[in-house]
Amino acid sequence: MKKITILLPAYNEESSFTLLRKCMNEVLASNPNYEWEFLLVNDGSTDNTLQQMIRLHEEDSHFSYLDLSRNYGKEIAMMAGFDYVDSDATIIMDADMQHPIDVIPEMIKYWEEGYDDVYAQRESSKEGWIKRKTSQWYYKLLQSLTRVPIQKNTGDFRLLDKSCIKALRMMREAERNTKGMYSWIGFRKKGIYYKQLERQEGETKWSFLSLVNLAINGIMSYTIAPLRFASFAGIIISFIAFIYLIYIIVVTNIFGEPVQGYPTIMVTILFLGGVQLLSLGIIGEYLGRVFNEVKGRPGYFINSYNGKRDSINGTDK
Ligand code: UDP
Ligand code: MG
Repeated sequence: MKKITILLPAYNEESSFTLLRKCMNEVLASNPNYEWEFLLVNDGSTDNTLQQMIRLHEEDSHFSYLDLSRNYGKEIAMMAGFDYVDSDATIIMDADMQHPIDVIPEMIKYWEEGYDDVYAQRESSKEGWIKRKTSQWYYKLLQSLTRVPIQKNTGDFRLLDKSCIKALRMMREAERNTKGMYSWIGFRKKGIYYKQLERQEGETKWSFLSLVNLAINGIMSYTIAPLRFASFAGIIISFIAFIYLIYIIVVTNIFGEPVQGYPTIMVTILFLGGVQLLSLGIIGEYLGRVFNEVKGRPGYFINSYNGKRDSINGTDK
């Protein structure tokens, strides 16, 4: 029998567990032709999430849990999960059950047909015009910067074949943008549609600022194209400055017009100052990433895996 793991990263989700258990039981009941494992990753929760996981594991052996040593963020929590799954396929879902379990049979169907990465695309829902447009523009921009094909409106909700998990496991970077990684590794992909459900319990961990951060992160970890911005800006500004120089020589020498002073100098200094700071900022963003990667630290440590403490991270298993 093929084995499928559902990977559920959870941070302060104690109130979601009743629903989670109900949903997982439904998955078990409606897909009896597979062996199921539900791997819960506790991402340093400060509430009773861990206690809930321990209870589930003790009451039902389908549930395993991995307890991280602190809160690392969802990206790292998933990375830890990848290290600990040993199945033919893995489905990543949010522990708040915003991802509907009824698309799971469809995912499995395409996987059985030979697709390695069956990703779920959010159906454009009742989001406002501005939000829809910005996300459209963002994807356009991102795609224009890279040759890796990008899947729109997708998140981490997807089924990954063992081969994808193996590939992802090799990517140990600390500054993670897992969404970009799914695209980067390639393999046979298939998109299916789903409607995102409302969060039933607890609250979202995303603020507006963290979304902006995510967007910048998405570009920075995908491509180094922004680094070219400084060179292009330099070329264009030098060219304009050169034309302006000729213009000034001509008007002062031939027409004898007095040289304009303060406003032109102010505008030029401020404009160039802005461009320079922006370029420095871009270089700084990449440098910061280099700094974090170059330390070469392990991505995470764990307190325990199913209550056992024999290793502190996935790499020395
Ligand atoms: N999550 C996590 N670590 C964090 C933040 C979130 O593991 O530091 C988990 C969270 O428990 C949930 C999933 O990531 O299962 C998605 O988080 P959330 O529901 O807050 O995001 P949203 O659905 O609002 O995008
Ligand atoms: Mg959610």
